[in-house]
Amino acid sequence: MKVTKFGGSSLASATQLEKVLNIVQSDPERHFVVVSAPGKRDGQDTKVTDALIKYYKEYISGKDVTASQEWIINRYQAMADELGFEAKSLTKIAKSIRDLANLPIEDNDFLYDTFLAAGEDNNAKLIAEYFSYKGLPARYVHPKKAGLLVSSEPGNARILPSSYDRIEELRNFDEVLVIPGFFGVTEDNQICTFSRGGSDITGSIIAAGVKADLYENFTDVDGIFAAHPGIIHKPHSISELTYREMRELAYAGFSVLHDEALLPAYRGRIPLVIKNTNNPSHPGTRIVLKHSGETLPVVGIAADDDFVSINISKYLMNREVGFGRKLLQILEELNIRWEHMPTGIDDVSVVLRGRELTPIKEEEILRQLNHNLEVDKAEIEHDLSIIMIVGENMKSHVGVAATATTALSQRNINLAMISQGASEVSVMFVVKTEQRNKALRALYDAFFRDEQSSQVAQ
Ligand code: ASP
Repeated sequence: MKVTKFGGSSLASATQLEKVLNIVQSDPERHFVVVSAPGKRDGQDTKVTDALIKYYKEYISGKDVTASQEWIINRYQAMADELGFEAKSLTKIAKSIRDLANLPIEDNDFLYDTFLAAGEDNNAKLIAEYFSYKGLPARYVHPKKAGLLVSSEPGNARILPSSYDRIEELRNFDEVLVIPGFFGVTEDNQICTFSRGGSDITGSIIAAGVKADLYENFTDVDGIFAAHPGIIHKPHSISELTYREMRELAYAGFSVLHDEALLPAYRGRIPLVIKNTNNPSHPGTRIVLKHSGETLPVVGIAADDDFVSINISKYLMNREVGFGRKLLQILEELNIRWEHMPTGIDDVSVVLRGRELTPIKEEEILRQLNHNLEVDKAEIEHDLSIIMIVGENMKSHVGVAATATTALSQRNINLAMISQGASEVSVMFVVKTEQRNKALRALYDAFFRDEQSSQVAQ
């Protein structure tokens, strides 16, 4: 059995819905379909979820909501019209959209989530009806009925472990089950969403719950590219990645799949595949527990911006008991998360995301470092980017870091830092953001292009 999740762009129009139907119909193992809200039909369009946010804002500030309500209802209506069928669910859909504006505003922590969830919920109703109309028996299942119990954290729900047994019972249905993504229900019966883009999480949870053989995540690209296509000209797509490799790449900017979506499928030992609704015969990218054969030492190269480094030196730092703890305590007390901490003998840097700092926090950190920790030098460096080369097979290859540093030095790129975790799944380079593209190209050429094409790429 397969769990098949479709993202918003795959569900944006009648044409897309036809493709979705063909995909589901073409494989009887596709038994569970998880859907997002309708996405953008073109560059100028608005995602239904974003339209719901607008509607919510108008409602809580007492503005007229009629235009927003009608726009959203019409998105569903237009799809049914274009598909040429009289959807009975449309009356319910229209009512559910309008009823949002009767919900209490005061003391309602879940109001925003309830608005947002309506995008996926109504889409699932319409799609289930469309499938049945086209001769594919299908049933809409609300997350409450599916057993998706979540924590009471509005906008950031987490699945409760007790959910999985209930979800497993979904195996007993004969029809194709269409389940809205992105939200669950709390123990107090409130609608609570995952973070944005969270339909991927629902798909992963359902896959783990029903013990699927495969979790298929359909989007609008032929899988995951080995590097950012906006920087590298026509990068190749990766055919197979391990969960750990995916996690490392996602950390450093690969955003095809929601970060939190990997965990349930990984724990359930369910392989995942990212596929293209617009090109379903392409094999896509498989995400597996273990590589099935030989792979290159590096499978992908990711880059992410907006990093900051707090650089500290103090003579004989290595002899001072408790220095590291005191340093991290400064950050902890200011509620700052840090990411990496490369060290030397008398110096240490703490690398963090720029969004963690404010000018006031920076001043306070420097003040405490100078006064309380009595460092010789402390400075904060901005506009840094990280570049990560990722591959589980790196550990069995000699010279990967050397290949990378040689490639970077040949292009005159100044490395601010290098760091490799003990697991050797990735090596991270920190460079000035202005050198990020050049560095990424140098590394892509060094690991993936042969000599001739690397010259063409330059
Ligand atoms: N519709 C939601 C969002 O736009 C969730 C999703 O598409 O996965 O964030």
